[in-house]
Amino acid sequence: MRKERRAILKWGSTAAAAWFLAGCGRRPGGPPGRERYSVYLTSDDGPLKGSPNLDAAIRETKVPLTAFVVGKHAHPSLYRSYLEGYRNNPYITLANHSYTHANGHYIDYYRHPMQVLADFEKNRVVLGLGDRRGRLPGRDSWRLGGRAYDADRSATAAADLLASHGYTLYGWDLEWTHTHSGRPIGTAEELYRRIKFQLHRGHTYTPGHLMLLMHDQMFGTLSAKMELKRLIMLLKNDPQIRLRPLADYPLSAPPYKVPTTKGPRLIKGRTTGVGETTPIDPLRFSR
Ligand SMILES: [Zn+2]
Repeated sequence: MRKERRAILKWGSTAAAAWFLAGCGRRPGGPPGRERYSVYLTSDDGPLKGSPNLDAAIRETKVPLTAFVVGKHAHPSLYRSYLEGYRNNPYITLANHSYTHANGHYIDYYRHPMQVLADFEKNRVVLGLGDRRGRLPGRDSWRLGGRAYDADRSATAAADLLASHGYTLYGWDLEWTHTHSGRPIGTAEELYRRIKFQLHRGHTYTPGHLMLLMHDQMFGTLSAKMELKRLIMLLKNDPQIRLRPLADYPLSAPPYKVPTTKGPRLIKGRTTGVGETTPIDPLRFSR
């Protein structure tokens, strides 16, 4: 509990600093154009307990969302029905987040790139995913548009192997993290300001395009669902922002910064609480 409160406080101070640094709402870089930025809503680890609320929020707000789904989580028939809900939602696109989600053993998982590839292929076949768009479990790696980025080099070999087999890998620019009990950390308003800050500063894999990561397990309560809807409305009502489906993400982009000897660097937002790179077994949210 104390840990949760600390994480929330940390998020609050980070968001406040971001807001201040962003010029309290002023826009650096000249007058804004309309729809200058693109935001992509994504949610990982479904189907899980929060999936029906997420499904409903997306239906009610009619915005595009990509669900990076895990085949193993669809074993219970109840959860399979959540997945069917996603398939029947015209605003949701399914993408590949592996079949096992590394079974919670990420370091060992990425030591065996061939098994990672097999895990993604199994998920693709079992769930009938049409293409090879994916996101690594527990690792922020990109293989897209002839560019590459690995927040954690332990996943480099697996990401390269997936890319060589036709996979496009999407990491994330900002994560809406959650507590150990699955409660979202930070309000919709704080997250919205953070999104604007990162877009203004260009702290994204592709300038002007922000990939937001959430998790199905965050939306197990009605209040979390309402917070998500608040965030969506803030983004929808911002004339500079357009919410786009993953298929709109540009595959070609301005030249990437020259890699340093330490490898490509990307300044990104800090995250707090439980997240995709500080994962706990998502199945703990299944009951
Ligand atoms: Zn995940």
